[in-house]
Amino acid sequence: MPTNSKIENICPFCKKKIDRPYWAHVQSEHPDEYKKKQTWVKLFKDYISLGMDQEISLQVIAELYNTSPSEVKSFLKQQGVQV
Ligand SMILES: [Zn+2]
Repeated sequence: MPTNSKIENICPFCKKKIDRPYWAHVQSEHPDEYKKKQTWVKLFKDYISLGMDQEISLQVIAELYNTSPSEVKSFLKQQGVQV
């Protein structure tokens, strides 16, 4: 995939186009979702099914939740997701 491709900033919960940072939107608009790390599993699977690169998916989720890709990865592993 081209390295300069931009990921559309679409909120996974309300499907609205949003400005960065994602997490600020999620935190204010979807506070319950924001608190649930469990959501990462669904997001990751959604992104992969859309054909998004695994590393990029981790990065996007990390950005969405204002955390690091490695934390997302280790959580997904704990949940039995192959990463
Ligand atoms: Zn939203």
